[in-house]
This record gives sequence, structure tokens and C-alpha cells, in this order.
Amino acid sequence: MYINGEFRTEPTGEIGSVINPATGEVVEEVAMGGPAETNEAIEAANRAYDEEWSDWSARDRGEVLREMAAILEETPDEVARLETLENGKPLDQSHNDVNAAVEALEFYAGAADKFHGDTIPEKLGVMDMTVHEPYGVVGVILPWNWPPMHVCDFAAPALAAGNTVVIKPSSQTPLATMELARLWDGVLPDGVFNVVVGSSGVGSTISGHPDVGKLGFTGSTWTGGKILESAAENITSAMMELGGKNPSIVFPDADLEKAASRTVNRAFYNCGEACSSPERLLVHEDVHDEVVEHCVEAAARVTLGNGLDNGVDMGPLASKEQYDKITEAIEVARNEGAELVFSGETPDDPELQDGFFVGPAIFDGVTRDMKLFQEEVFGPVLAVTTFESEEEAIDLANDTKYGLTGGVWTTDSERSMRVARSIEAGLVYVNNFMHGILGTPFGGYKRSGMGRKLAFEETMREFTRVKSIRYSLGE
Ligand code: NAD
Repeated sequence: MYINGEFRTEPTGEIGSVINPATGEVVEEVAMGGPAETNEAIEAANRAYDEEWSDWSARDRGEVLREMAAILEETPDEVARLETLENGKPLDQSHNDVNAAVEALEFYAGAADKFHGDTIPEKLGVMDMTVHEPYGVVGVILPWNWPPMHVCDFAAPALAAGNTVVIKPSSQTPLATMELARLWDGVLPDGVFNVVVGSSGVGSTISGHPDVGKLGFTGSTWTGGKILESAAENITSAMMELGGKNPSIVFPDADLEKAASRTVNRAFYNCGEACSSPERLLVHEDVHDEVVEHCVEAAARVTLGNGLDNGVDMGPLASKEQYDKITEAIEVARNEGAELVFSGETPDDPELQDGFFVGPAIFDGVTRDMKLFQEEVFGPVLAVTTFESEEEAIDLANDTKYGLTGGVWTTDSERSMRVARSIEAGLVYVNNFMHGILGTPFGGYKRSGMGRKLAFEETMREFTRVKSIRYSLGE
């Protein structure tokens, strides 16, 4: 843990084991915090806000974020290595993650002194000006799939806007986050950036704490609901980045090979443990066979292995729990009558036999009543469904409780706009999928969440409260 500028490595409670999912071996045992340490971190963050951080100018906050970005950019290797060890993803993907974290720090370093309020002209003898003020302490609760990037996606705008932060990484993947704390130790005033490693008790202490002004959560829709329940007690504002069951829709006039290979590539990127990835491929009946053939070819090119080895495209699933969940989802899909048209092989290296590997899978003939169509798998499993018309494609795309991302593949620009507007999701890609751009809003419709990260104005608004100051202009 990193609380009030001090590392806590001595166990005072539970000891957690971080497992390398490629081998099943323990990477490190870690001291986990509980409610006491969480309260302490929130108190430290509150004090640091009151006594020091709230006096810093926006420009100075930007400068310190720039320094954090420079440190991480100069020394990314250990963070990336730890991410691969604790999550399993290929090392180059961990480096992509660290690069994205650096970009977020740089972006919000620039944003810190550029986000202003408005002046609202005279009405009935008064004039208004608005100011955006920080909440104080922001509590951030994170999952295990992109630790460094998630830390920075929340901490960078929260700090830029003038808040202090208490971060709870997933207990499965605390190492890369703790390495960030080590790299930045002494850069920020004590108590401005805190990390409490622990299980759900740490999360629920954060979400129910009266001194936490804003919550930033990334994780499952189910946990998001629990967090909102506990936030309700103090009417704490919350930004929720939740699950998805994202459709990639292919029309006959699309570049079919590109649509299929990109969809497959993104479906299996990060072992499919990506909230924005396409889990459903909706394909027009006229081009179904050709598209599925391209998909199978693309999936066959995916090499599984230990993320630390060269030439690996896909590592293991992140944990035994994930392994059990994904293998069960595959079994359920078979039993429901979906047709398994591709099932990737797992590595034959004897050292990896205890790893949590599941080869990529493509199911065809998936219908809307199947669990595979409705429920987020969060693993390397792509579900193919056929449609006959544009209306049916839109109806299928929206027939889910989620609404995070979607994609449409067509060369007809009018259709692309019609379909993009009709998909109920926070982000729709046209002729690409999961092309990440910093500076544009990311977040969900429906049960995929609320609030927007990665943007300038929408995100800075998330981490500030707006106040109107009303001036009387006299009689
Ligand atoms: P999870 O919901 O199980 O856990 C997320 C975090 O919440 C963990 O740190 C966990 O310890 C904590 N937590 C669990 N119960 C809690 C409680 N009652 N109160 C407070 N905190 C609690 O999610 P996960 O399995 O770690 O991650 C996978 C999920 O994350 C998927 O559903 C995925 O779609 C989602 N996700 C969403 C986005 C996005 O931006 N929308 C990004 C990545 C992952």
C-alpha cells in the first residue's frame, strides 16, 4: 500500500498472492489493506487536499502531471513487465498500455489550466459566472485488465481538476500500480496520490465513505450496481465504466476481409478481456460464408503463449476464476446449440500446462435467445449472428442490456451514419473497431455505465462541481 507518501509493506491483515496466469505460480505475496487502512488513506487524502493541494495553481498541477508522464515514459519497462506477470498479456501490449497511461498524463497536464467556467449575460438585473471546483477526495476502484492505463485515465483528470485520489487496484493485479506509486514517490505532496491494495472490503469502504466526493469505477455491471447502492447513502457522485456486449455489423458492401480480420483481432486482443471489444459479429446473410471464412483464417493466425515470450499475440486469461468462467461460457454456448466453427489450440510447452490458457473460439448460428448473445463473456469468444436487413441488424445490435461500443462496416456513407446514430452505445466505430483516440469521450449507454472518460470537457466536468456565482447589477 502507499498511504500519505509512505509504503506499507508489513502485513497487518490479509496477505494476498499475485499469481502469474501463464504458469499458475505465485509472483509475489502482498500486504492487503482493509477498512482501517482505507479510512487512513481517505483521511490523508482529505488532509492533503485541505492543507496543500487545494492551494496549488492549475498550471502547477499540470506541471507535476507532466513530470509524472516524463518519469513513466523514461522508465516504462518494470511497469510493463509487472503487468505481463500479473495479468498475462503479451509484453508489447503491456507497453501499449503504459504508453496510453503516459498519453493520459500528458493530455490532462495540458487540460489542467484550460478548463474554465462561463459568464452568463444579464437577466433581470443579475449576471452569473460559473466556476468548476474539485470534489476534494476522488475514490477510484479498478479491475485487472489494464492496470496502468486505468490508474491514469482516472487519476490524471482527477488530479488535473484539483482533487486528491485514493486508488484501489484489483487485488489480482496490484503490482504495476504499486510500481507507479514507487516511480512517482516524492513527486506529488504526501497524501495526494494513495493506493490501497485489498479486496472488495476496501472498495466498499471507499464507495460508502462520506469524505469521498466522487467515485470513479471500472468493472462489471453487477459490482457497479453494488457500488451505487453504497454511494447512495451519502449521495456520492459516481462515474461508472462497466461491461459491454459490443456488436460489429458487417454489410455486404464492406471491405469484408478487413471487417473480419479487424473484428477478430480486436475480439481476441488482451485475450478478449477488453470492455470495448466486439463480442458479437452481426453479418448480412449474403456475405455470411465469406466473412466467417475470413474470421476463421484470422483466428488461426493468433499465437498463444507466455506474454513474456516473443511472437505471442495472446496470453492466458487473467486468473483461474476467468478460466472457469470462460470455459463454462463455451460449454453453455455449445449446449444452447451454437456451432463452434473455430477453436484455437493452447500452448504445448510443458512449463505452461498450469497456465490459464483458452484458445480463441468463434461460434456461428448464435441467436438472440442464447446466453452467448446476451451476456458479456469477457474472454476470447466471438459470437456470429446473421441478419437480412438493416432494420434487423440495428434491432439485433440493440437487443442487449449493454451499450458500450459498436461498429459498422459499409462503404455506403449514408447507411454508416444512419446505423451509427441508431446503435445505442457511447462509441460507434465506422469501418474500424477499437481505434483508441485520446481526447474523445468514452463511456456507456444503458447498463454499460455513466460518465465519460478520456475527453477534455466531458471528463473535466466529471471531476469538478459547478458553482454559479450571481452578481447583482444594482437597481
Ligand atoms: P469487478 O466488478 O469484479 O471488480 C472491479 C473492482 O471492484 C475490483 O477492484 C474489486 O475488488 C472491486 N469490488 C468488488 N466488489 C466490490 C464492492 N461490493 N464494493 C466496492 N468494490 C468492489 O470487475 P473485474 O472482474 O475486475 O473486471 C472485469 C469487468 O470490468 C468486466 O465486466 C468489464 O467489462 C469491465 N470493464 C469495463 C471497462 C470500461 O471502461 N467500461 C473497462 C475495463 C473493464
